[in-house]
Amino acid sequence: MSVTVRVPAKVNVQLAVGGARPDGYHDLANVFLAVGLYDEVTVERADSLTVTCDGPDAGQVPLDRTNLAARAAGLLAARHGIAPDVHIHIAKDIPVAGGMAGGSADGAGALLACDALWGLGSSRAELLDICAELGSDVPFSLVGGAALGTGRGEHLTELAVGGTFHWVFAMADGGLSTPVVFGEFDRLNEGAAVPEPVASPGLLEALRTGDTAALAGALVNDLQPAALSLRPSLGATLDAGTGAGALAALVSGSGPTTAFLTKDEESARGVAAALLASGTCRAARVAQGPAAGARVVSRG
Ligand code: ATP
Repeated sequence: MSVTVRVPAKVNVQLAVGGARPDGYHDLANVFLAVGLYDEVTVERADSLTVTCDGPDAGQVPLDRTNLAARAAGLLAARHGIAPDVHIHIAKDIPVAGGMAGGSADGAGALLACDALWGLGSSRAELLDICAELGSDVPFSLVGGAALGTGRGEHLTELAVGGTFHWVFAMADGGLSTPVVFGEFDRLNEGAAVPEPVASPGLLEALRTGDTAALAGALVNDLQPAALSLRPSLGATLDAGTGAGALAALVSGSGPTTAFLTKDEESARGVAAALLASGTCRAARVAQGPAAGARVVSRG
């Protein structure tokens, strides 16, 4: 018997970052939007816990116990006093270390898939609790849609969205490490008074009403200067997308994937083609948001 779960990537339409706390973490106001780029996680019973992965970035995915999908299976099994003996296969379409929460998606996907495979019937609250233990972005991968994350980003409030937004994502060569980008944020802001992170009322209203132009004007990522400082070439990618007619461009999360909001699907296709032709990115993909969170798509 096998269970397959499909999980979306995310883009941060607002990422407001506070100063470093004494524990080294940063308080965030993090507005997540799930978008239609997906990983699929399939689990089946096996003699021991193993992980395989395929897809363009599969070579960069760890296949040992540090894989977030393996950690999710281990945590769920431990809570129920059972052995995590499953084979996990990840069909990976979300870029690795791209700032689109691909590892988090696999963690949430494996959790939901194992819960179904083992017939545990965990409540949503129990699953969300394990997600928060796995990482700040994992609860959102389970929930999908749109949500405001506060604290380290793991306290979620779901947000209503009044329309569909059309995006293009440009993938860069190589990844950027999230902790390194936060370190660069701290370096760039040393000695400065960093304001408390708060969600922008205008941005929340743009999501609620499905107003693309208003959302384009409100997109903000406080990590963008740090990502650009570490990877200056992303500036040319952002310029190529806006030059091709995107309404707005920003670095996705900690980067190096860049995100472009467009007025409609046709415009998105044009911006994707122009980005590819510009030679400033490795790949360009069109995707819509909001997308549904992790869900079982097949049982074999
Ligand atoms: P975020 O947007 O949440 O900051 P990201 O999209 O930048 O994350 P991920 O793709 O989640 O980055 O991967 C970050 C690192 O996590 C990888 O370099 C890899 O070493 C590790 N990792 C662990 N499990 C996975 C997984 N299932 N898929 C991808 N990377 C994983």
